[in-house]
Amino acid sequence: MTRAALPRLDDLRISRATRVLMRADFNVPLRDGAVADDLRITTVLPTLEWLRDQKASVVACGHLGRPKGKVDPQFSMAPVAARLGELLGVEVQLGPPEVVGPKVHPLAANVRPGEVLLLENLRFDPGETENDPAFATNLCELADAYVNDAFGASHRAHASIVGPPRLLPSAGGRLLFREVDMLSRLLDGAGRPFVAVLGGAKVSDKLGVIDALLERCDTILVGGAMMFTFLLAEGHSVGDSLVEPDMVGECERLLATGRVRVPVDVVIARDIADDADTKIVGAGRVPDRWKGLDIGPESAALFSDEIAQAQTVLWNGPMGVFEVRPFAAGTRTVAEAVAACNGFTVVGGGDSAAAVRQFGLADEVDHVSTGGGASLELIEQGDLPGLEALRESTTRRH
Ligand code: ADP
Ligand code: MG
Repeated sequence: MTRAALPRLDDLRISRATRVLMRADFNVPLRDGAVADDLRITTVLPTLEWLRDQKASVVACGHLGRPKGKVDPQFSMAPVAARLGELLGVEVQLGPPEVVGPKVHPLAANVRPGEVLLLENLRFDPGETENDPAFATNLCELADAYVNDAFGASHRAHASIVGPPRLLPSAGGRLLFREVDMLSRLLDGAGRPFVAVLGGAKVSDKLGVIDALLERCDTILVGGAMMFTFLLAEGHSVGDSLVEPDMVGECERLLATGRVRVPVDVVIARDIADDADTKIVGAGRVPDRWKGLDIGPESAALFSDEIAQAQTVLWNGPMGVFEVRPFAAGTRTVAEAVAACNGFTVVGGGDSAAAVRQFGLADEVDHVSTGGGASLELIEQGDLPGLEALRESTTRRH
């Protein structure tokens, strides 16, 4: 199937004072009313700087948390406006809690060329997640063109993602293009061997992506909490480790492919604590009242060997509870192996990306995706609602 190309920034006719509605993934973690990690802001600066260089008047927007369609001050975009202003070196004005409507029109009309207005949290309005066309129309009334640089939100068919491309000349931003280009290399013509490393919390979260990956990759290495459902499916004792009994049948089916590897040893403890007493045991021998919380050193070494020989590596999901020191070693060893691998390497997933950054290895990986759910869904479905909407926009005449 040949697809229309995604429209690029350079395809938009932007000149002085063109008002551009820019959707970004500003869903950042907060601490004490300030932005705790600004990665999701810094990664859209290239698009914002480009728009400002063209002297566009930027109306930026995004969501923060889950305010459930109501104005809720704890989810205000004020901290994002403050941090964005610091990074750009200009004052970023914040819109009112109504998000859109008559009060906002004059503000959007008065954004000077090269300046930025940030709308309040899109999810203060129930129309955003309900994909209400009226809300999309209200947003589009504020601008002459639309740019989607919110890769991490493009798996959601929400009003600000899929609505504007129907109504305004539209393009994907720099970050969105980088994400799509990098992740597409895993879908078509990936170098072999292609090794996927999967961990994190739940098999059920990742079942779709495991199936999609089995069609493309040679081997899947499984760690994290999800390994215990696989071990249970092999008939082993998993003690008090996290398991999803409903998924045992699926795990049996996946193991029968012969291409899914589970650990041979695990780190166990009675509780998740910095000073927990830990032991290393054979993967199938977790005693009652003990929990498996990381892959063991022998497994980490076996996984590292597989990764070293790969031409393509996708890693999603930590190998253990890496946030707590006694259970971080497996994730660190895998992160180091991915960093050292000569092949094409991608890390997708919020927590695994955080782990790679925490270990200072992000620069050694070819691509650390900013979109956890979006990157997995792109691999699983081969497309995203937000990308589809942009592609359809090129075939319309605005
Ligand atoms: P990602 O965001 O990279 O996709 P997930 O959200 O699926 O990853 O899972 C991350 C979480 O899984 C981490 O908070 C980590 O502590 C937890 N985790 C990993 N291994 C285990 C384990 N053995 N037991 C309990 N939780 C685990
Ligand atoms: Mg996560």
